[in-house]
Amino acid sequence: MILNHVRLVRELTSGIETESGFVRVQKGKITEVSDRPYCLPDKIRENTSAEKEEDFRVIDCKGKTLLPGLIDLHTHITVLNQVGFDCLHSDMALLTAAAEHTSRYLDMGFTTIRDCGSIHRVANEVKHMVQRGLIQAPDLITCGRAIMPTEGNVNHVMAQHVHFADTSEEVRKAAREEIAEGADFVKIFASGAAAISTGVPKQSIMFPEEIRSAVETAERKGCYVAAHCHGDDAIRTSILAGVKTIEHATLISDETLELAAEKKSWLIPTLAVMYVSDGPRKTYWESRLGPMLRHCTEKMAKAYEMGMYLGFGTDCAAGDFCYDNGIEFQFRKEKCGMKDLDILLQCTRNNAVIAGIDDRVGMIRKGMEADLILVDGKPDQDISAMYHRPDLVVKRGHIVREV
Ligand SMILES: [Zn+2]
Repeated sequence: MILNHVRLVRELTSGIETESGFVRVQKGKITEVSDRPYCLPDKIRENTSAEKEEDFRVIDCKGKTLLPGLIDLHTHITVLNQVGFDCLHSDMALLTAAAEHTSRYLDMGFTTIRDCGSIHRVANEVKHMVQRGLIQAPDLITCGRAIMPTEGNVNHVMAQHVHFADTSEEVRKAAREEIAEGADFVKIFASGAAAISTGVPKQSIMFPEEIRSAVETAERKGCYVAAHCHGDDAIRTSILAGVKTIEHATLISDETLELAAEKKSWLIPTLAVMYVSDGPRKTYWESRLGPMLRHCTEKMAKAYEMGMYLGFGTDCAAGDFCYDNGIEFQFRKEKCGMKDLDILLQCTRNNAVIAGIDDRVGMIRKGMEADLILVDGKPDQDISAMYHRPDLVVKRGHIVREV
């Protein structure tokens, strides 16, 4: 397949910039990236049967911008949007709902997602279904269930996507179990959760030795820890304990930003989840999330100015308002003052580096997986082109959707 007349952005192609080039895709990989349009060789043009073959299929992309498939490093394929809430009676029903929901991310251009905790660890199974080609959905990076110390008011559904553990020994056992069940990384709750009614986001809910126990256990098995952290103390403790990715980083202080920069810790802000939509509890959520959003955007603006390498997460899910309207892109630009191109780099190249998959995805380069999206507009100059579905989505060389 040849995607012809594509606009390419230098920073996402390792140096090739053009208003009308082409990208060749063969057997699921990118095999050629050119700054010139493609011309069908005469011998093929005469042979109409050859033209029908996938390798010679030429798609005219009309000067639209071709980007690497997007990566979301913080989402949940269940729990959000009520997915899985009515499936607790049946693991098979849960698997079906989760698989169906996961495929929706492709529609919004996300070809890799990291699930940060799923009901009954179902994300591990959906990941295997994707790997075996049973469903067309993004690649998944999963943690099974997220490790959490005992907290109050965790409802019976939410309780199924966490693994309760108190004491260092219990955390070690929980981390081992999650890894044994197929987790790629270990997720912990180092601070209180905004989504739990009695959760206090600024509170540290794990002890330093418990966090260290998770890190040591993960590292022994060749993986890492991602820590849910709103409060500054939880962020600082997690960085010092060796946690690889700080999720949310909502209430981070200037001093801890400096520490994160020094230790090269990855911050994965998730601004979109603090967007409050109209609804019966709007006032409650505004009062709970509004100050958190203001603090977080101010500090992420500062982290950006410091030149920190920021990741991209949403803590939202495909199909909800935030996803379908690109709120994460919008907030990064409008509330944090980030440049359009840098936001694009965050959800592609940066995320691939952070997840350790930059040898396969995150850029348009020869030899990379053919995970590609076509966007109408110039998102590197005006990120609002990302506030809606892309025109074309290609996963591993297969067209998922074209306009
Ligand atoms: Zn989350």
